[in-house]
Amino acid sequence: MLAVVPPPVTVRVPSKINLHLSVGDLRSDGFHDLVTVFQALSLVDEVTVAVTDDPGVEVYGEGQDSVPTGANNLAWRAVQALAAYVGRDESEPKVRVVLRKGIPVAGGMAGGSADAAATLVALSALWRLDIGRDELAGVAAKLGSDVPFALYGGTALGTGRGEQLVPVLSRHTFHWVLAFDQRGLSTPRVYGELDRLREAGDPPRVGSHAPVVEALASGDPRQLALLLGNDLQAAAVSLRPGLRRTLRAGVNAGALAGTVSGSGPTCAFLCADAQSAVEVAAELAGAGVCRTVRVAHGPVPGARVVGGENDP
Ligand code: ATP
Repeated sequence: MLAVVPPPVTVRVPSKINLHLSVGDLRSDGFHDLVTVFQALSLVDEVTVAVTDDPGVEVYGEGQDSVPTGANNLAWRAVQALAAYVGRDESEPKVRVVLRKGIPVAGGMAGGSADAAATLVALSALWRLDIGRDELAGVAAKLGSDVPFALYGGTALGTGRGEQLVPVLSRHTFHWVLAFDQRGLSTPRVYGELDRLREAGDPPRVGSHAPVVEALASGDPRQLALLLGNDLQAAAVSLRPGLRRTLRAGVNAGALAGTVSGSGPTCAFLCADAQSAVEVAAELAGAGVCRTVRVAHGPVPGARVVGGENDP
């Protein structure tokens, strides 16, 4: 009897920005405690998984040449982690993963983590696993601290290394303009630079996340704009001084405020509404301060099967 091969499954997964990112001091184990408010944005990657006799990863789109296609790809690590978790003890799972990237690589928007989360959701559909999102989040957290948020999406408070999540009420769709830089920035390098700046002096710290949570509940982008803050921004700007010009250009173009996303170098500009975001994007694109400009909105849901019952 012929085995029935299940059809490929495609999952769309959001990028994230950090509306607030407070970084604790360097711990003796080399990590930092974080308090962060994530928001999932409509700038997405799409991940397709299919049963195959030729396992591996293919990458297309944004930054395709700088993404590894071997065992280091986070999507492939997700395949192996889920196979091990459910006891499919294949040394090389018979899966082909195709990544269509819209999220900038090494851009501070957690693109690799997004691909890992999408792969977990796609594979559980392909393999018809009876695994809920909360159980998948346990597998996700072992792959990286930003992976669980990409599963849930929305707006959330993250603590620990960012993987302990509590949803945050956000009453409004916020409109963003994103400025991609010419090259990525390595996350460990940016944390190292923050440690160096803190040893040498006392760079400002963002303080409590509570006002940001209140502004999200009020739904007023002008209130939120006053509160965007990121402890990693000084380090990212120190390594890539041109970001100062990009941040200024976004505000000069009419954005309410701008911030470096995560470890950068992508800059995120909050705009008053959708129309303003289109105008800011057009002006910023002409200012010659970045490689590419995109508009996006948030919050949006986490990794979802395309054409699935939750697809709009
Ligand atoms: P984060 O903000 O989560 O630290 P980031 O958004 O700055 O990360 P990513 O795009 O996730 O950066 O990629 C970081 C590095 O991980 C890349 O330089 C790349 O070599 C590697 N990588 C592994 N898998 C992937 C993937 N699926 N997509 C993008 N990069 C990947």
